[in-house]
Amino acid sequence: MSLLEVKNLEVAYGGIQAVKGINFHIDQGEMVTLIGANGAGKTTTLKTLVGMLKPKSGSVTYDGHDCSKLPVYDFVKKGLSLVPEGRGVFSRLTVEENLRMGSFYRNDEAEINKEIDYVYTLFPRLKERYKQLAGTLSGGEQQMLAIGRAILSRPKLLLLDEPSMGLAPIIVQQIFDIIKMISSQGVTVLLVEQNAKLALEASNRGYVMESGKITMAGDSRELLDSDAVKKAYLGE
Ligand code: ATP
Repeated sequence: MSLLEVKNLEVAYGGIQAVKGINFHIDQGEMVTLIGANGAGKTTTLKTLVGMLKPKSGSVTYDGHDCSKLPVYDFVKKGLSLVPEGRGVFSRLTVEENLRMGSFYRNDEAEINKEIDYVYTLFPRLKERYKQLAGTLSGGEQQMLAIGRAILSRPKLLLLDEPSMGLAPIIVQQIFDIIKMISSQGVTVLLVEQNAKLALEASNRGYVMESGKITMAGDSRELLDSDAVKKAYLGE
């Protein structure tokens, strides 16, 4: 059984249908990429997976649970964690307070402290700035913090919405190296990206989304080699 199974999912904002009956799955341990142009419906899909939006129809099954029956606060507890587009760090809290927010539902203080140290080994920049207000960090540092905060929620399935957005190539590379490392430690990852090349190179499989529909699916290598993907998403 897949960790996540999405069937005939439709999501609408009032009369605007953003997701038009999509099907996809993610197996335990995989890293899967969803690519697509602006407005294709990727963010809407992610928000629905974490319970922030309710489907109009169709189903989402995560780890055996029917997500329509799961209260919103349960999604994080069950290991579904979203690193949102634009990072969503708490600007007026310090770096360390932001990390602790990720563990809000836990009370295993000793473990939490260990994991904060672990995040600091992944991102030494955050350790240097642990007392600094998150709003004063650079874009790359905020992205690191958003990922660190998600780690503190102990994700089984980590969803990342455009982690490369607005960052310098060298920082993007660092962020991707860390995402790959998190994945290699057994966390299942769904990556939404405009940077299709980097994302497909990092992942096992991919889906292409266009105007609310999934139009292509396959192994990342196949997608990277496909003429349609090259033309539309790789600028070749
Ligand atoms: P982006 O890369 O810009 O985030 P996306 O693929 O994530 O693009 P969505 O943000 O999911 O796309 O948007 C899908 C469609 O839904 C678009 O047509 C968008 O205008 C519309 N949409 C998104 N958010 C809302 C909203 N809050 N209210 C109404 N329409 C919305």
